[in-house]
Amino acid sequence: MTHADRQPKPHGTPQPRHRRVGPGWGAMLWRGFRKQCPACGQGGLFHHWFSISERCPRCGLKFERIEGHWIGAIGMNTIITFGFLLIALVAALVVFIDTDVPRWWIASGGIGLAIVVPPFIDPFTRTFWTAIDIGMRPLEAHEVDWNVVAPGWAGNTAGQSGLPSDGSSTTTEPPPKKGPDS
Ligand SMILES: [Zn+2]
Repeated sequence: MTHADRQPKPHGTPQPRHRRVGPGWGAMLWRGFRKQCPACGQGGLFHHWFSISERCPRCGLKFERIEGHWIGAIGMNTIITFGFLLIALVAALVVFIDTDVPRWWIASGGIGLAIVVPPFIDPFTRTFWTAIDIGMRPLEAHEVDWNVVAPGWAGNTAGQSGLPSDGSSTTTEPPPKKGPDS
């Protein structure tokens, strides 16, 4: 067959909301792990170490999706920090068990870790938590530019009505032709 099958469906265009389109869990978690936008992979989201942009400059995602969103990132930060502490303390006790290294040295190391680790992993936990949040609560139609998040997806025209961006977003794909002529 030739190009006869590019007929747009006039009705029943699928809505992006509550539908798994765009990146999957693995891609989103990997992006979040690298301080990138989970939805589109855009980097450079932080003004400085502790200050993330309000929105992704590429897809328009507002990172603080709901009020209290960052509480999840703090919780994740706490869990990871305790994990670090547990591993470090067990390793230290195993390594120094038969030595005369004072135990308070080990304790001091643990306290140092508890002080250093949380601010160091803060930006990573923000994007990583946002990835988990999107995985659990899929993106709504109005949250992102679907031409960026899911390029080529047949339903992405449904997300263009309520774009949060200023209209300068990249729209590379032309809309499908309506006419039956070729
Ligand atoms: Zn993005």
